[in-house]
Amino acid sequence: MTLFEDASKALATAIERLNLSEDVIERLRHPSASVKMSLPVRMDSGHLKVFPAYRVRFNTALGPGKGGLRFHPEVDVDHVQTLAFWMTFKCALLRLPFGGAKGGVRVDPKALSKMELERLSRAYIDAFADFIGPNRDVPAPDVYTNEMIMGWMADQYATIMRCHDPAVITGKPLALGGSRHRDKATASGAYMIIDAFMTEHERSPEQTTVAIQGFGNAGAELATRLYEAGYKVVAVSDSKGAVCDRAGLDVPALREYKSHDESNGVYDAYALRDCDDASVERISNEELLELDVDFLIPAALENQITEENADAIRARVIFEVANGPVTSKAAQMLEERDISVLPGILVNAGGVTVSYFEWVQNRRGESWSEDDVVERLDQRMRDAFSRVRDARKEHGVSWRVAAYVVALEHLNEALHAQGTREYYQSEL
Ligand code: NAD
Repeated sequence: MTLFEDASKALATAIERLNLSEDVIERLRHPSASVKMSLPVRMDSGHLKVFPAYRVRFNTALGPGKGGLRFHPEVDVDHVQTLAFWMTFKCALLRLPFGGAKGGVRVDPKALSKMELERLSRAYIDAFADFIGPNRDVPAPDVYTNEMIMGWMADQYATIMRCHDPAVITGKPLALGGSRHRDKATASGAYMIIDAFMTEHERSPEQTTVAIQGFGNAGAELATRLYEAGYKVVAVSDSKGAVCDRAGLDVPALREYKSHDESNGVYDAYALRDCDDASVERISNEELLELDVDFLIPAALENQITEENADAIRARVIFEVANGPVTSKAAQMLEERDISVLPGILVNAGGVTVSYFEWVQNRRGESWSEDDVVERLDQRMRDAFSRVRDARKEHGVSWRVAAYVVALEHLNEALHAQGTREYYQSEL
């Protein structure tokens, strides 16, 4: 089964709960536009290398496409289309005026020098300049892309268009029109959802153990927030493996260690398992997922909890910070064992929400304070949490299906309001 077929299952269950027209259902089976380009990039050696690159807009009934850009060796059209699908429902769930989109380049970015990475980033914008735009499709960071890369891309767009248009891309450095708190937004939003869940269940952080897979933009920042709030973070991991301490890890020390040096001036060079703290246990990513903890937080990649390991999961609640870390079959197996899975389209929506704030600030020529951004984010995240919690009770479904029900109700209104249009204007 492809990633897209698997992701569509939660939507299919949500569709059964709602009275949707056949036209709407048919539209939601297909991306509205999907483009593949080849990016020729001059390597430092003088050789030319070509990288496959993608941008998919899944649905734009609610507004311009919005979604991150991933640099990863496993990027393909199925991945990008599925990520665009999730973005569509995430934006609808958060009531953002955006459709869903995503992009990616099939590349191992850690194998490139900083100059090669900059040439690749600029080549992406050269290739897709006619396909993106502030009113058309607005990229942002995702796995192995960051603020610096967004800055190069915004600059390349301005060079091509011969005008300043920072709203074309979000997650930029502050100096180029970025928003305060964007770098922390995904973790902050996830923290707000966890906090709302804790309030609902009258739990205290001190009694709660947490394991986090992935120690990047989302995972490391969330580990810090939880540590500071008094949670016992017992395990964290990166792509090379995990470290574990049942008494609780010193998260700030691990972050300090990870940020110590950078391989190509962009990515962390050091693996967590090589840290100098001899007292922590070294375990694998697979073992981390199976730890006996209250909260398990996958914050790396898709397909980490599948029907192969779902029975071995001992966490009480899973918060999906990554997109699609739990497959549909695994989610069903976990729910049958009373393990709640709070879905990525809710938990990780803080990133796109602050991206929306950045887009608004750029269009208005404003720069909001960090407090202002955090307050607005908190309001949006907690509203979304309440909507999903209420839909779950009303329909008697899982958190995942409830999130799709809430998103779909909103998207359905827009699709209906568009009328009976049977063809789209050119997407290009
Ligand atoms: P990142 O590139 O900053 O970090 C990724 C982390 O995952 C790194 O620590 C890396 O070592 C680790 N990792 C990679 N492969 C792994 C593997 N096989 N096993 C365990 N760990 C592995 O990426 P990020 O921005 O933190 O994104 C992480 C997840 O969160 C992705 O699914 C992404 O789509 C999702 N997300 C990110 C944002 C955002 O704003 N950055 C927003 C919403 C969702």
